[in-house]
Amino acid sequence: MPFSKLGLTEPVTKAINELGYTEPTAIQKQAIPVVLTGKDLIAAAQTGTGKTASFVLPTLELLNNGHKLRGKRIQALVLTPTRELAVQVEASIEKYSKYLNLSSMAMYGGVDSAPQKQALIWGVDILVATPGRLLDMAHQRALHFDELKVLVLDEADRMLDMGFIDDINKIIERLPKQRQNLLFSATISTDVRALAKRTINNAVEISISPDESSKPKIDQWLVTVDKSNKSALLSFLIKEHQWQQALIFIETKHGAAKLVSQLEKRGISAESIHGGRTQAVREQILADFKSGKITMLVSTGIAARGIDIGELERVVNYDLPAQADEYIHRIGRTGRAGATGEAISLVSKDNFRELCAIESRLGHIITRKEFEDFPVKKIVPVSILNYVPKGKKQ
Ligand code: AMP
Repeated sequence: MPFSKLGLTEPVTKAINELGYTEPTAIQKQAIPVVLTGKDLIAAAQTGTGKTASFVLPTLELLNNGHKLRGKRIQALVLTPTRELAVQVEASIEKYSKYLNLSSMAMYGGVDSAPQKQALIWGVDILVATPGRLLDMAHQRALHFDELKVLVLDEADRMLDMGFIDDINKIIERLPKQRQNLLFSATISTDVRALAKRTINNAVEISISPDESSKPKIDQWLVTVDKSNKSALLSFLIKEHQWQQALIFIETKHGAAKLVSQLEKRGISAESIHGGRTQAVREQILADFKSGKITMLVSTGIAARGIDIGELERVVNYDLPAQADEYIHRIGRTGRAGATGEAISLVSKDNFRELCAIESRLGHIITRKEFEDFPVKKIVPVSILNYVPKGKKQ
């Protein structure tokens, strides 16, 4: 099905054709017509499904009416949990709006606010922002919402995980009551549902089930390993399989620094990214990772939020995340639309609970691989996916 069938017009379809998008993804097929009619939308879709284009493309159409913005005004606001995601979404908007006369900007904390204030002076059609900096700007009257037409909450579950609920509520209080609301979230948890109830009326709900053909192709496997052997096993995997690139998730920033030095001792160059590094350093490291200058990037969960590297080959869970949803987010960094990715987890016995939660969430056991040189003393049992307590067997 061509994009034009969804109701998109030539300036938009031309830009996406040039990007090589031939077919809309499942979420795009469902969301674009709904957004074009001006309805509110709640969409359960993970990163990697093409969800950004599913709200950006129709929003561009809705805003492309020659409206003349007043200073310090915006027409659409996209709230994102992290600066990295804000930058990435704004970069997509720029590409998609190549043939339109609409402006966009990413705004986030951790950097000097003066240039951002300056950029707002003439108004911006689509502002992509993290909640904290946006509120700051609104308090300073650098920005007014009276011309806002569309609100997008992107990765709503992560914004809630990161504790942005108060900021989001304060922002929403300032917005015109008459507006279109679009909420995207990997999972529609109870908290997300509560946020949606307060913010959104009569929304159309869509859910991209993990079985859709558009689902990113991710080859998941795990290796059970004794904790003390983890860094040696990782070095072995990198060398043995000649990995060219990996994003390696680890629990703590101290752990990240330690792992980098352990890898380097074994002749593997690596870098780490975590909350303790300045914004400028994080951005440089990310740029170097994207360009391939850095091949092994060790990251804590928070630092990696919103990272989009078009052709990320592989993610490694050096430590399993505490939450099953976080696992889904992490592996979503690879296998993006069209490409096949690999997600590898190193699992020691004390991760058994997390493993059970993840495999139950996936609904299947993750393939295990064994390596002769790394025999396991503390065996990790096979997960129970549908555990029925004793005496309650049907
Ligand atoms: P997202 O889920 O928005 O993070 O998008 C994941 C990736 O898919 C991005 O790199 C997009 O450029 C790409 N993408 C989005 N829509 C399409 C499409 N219809 N065809 C091919 N690639 C797409």
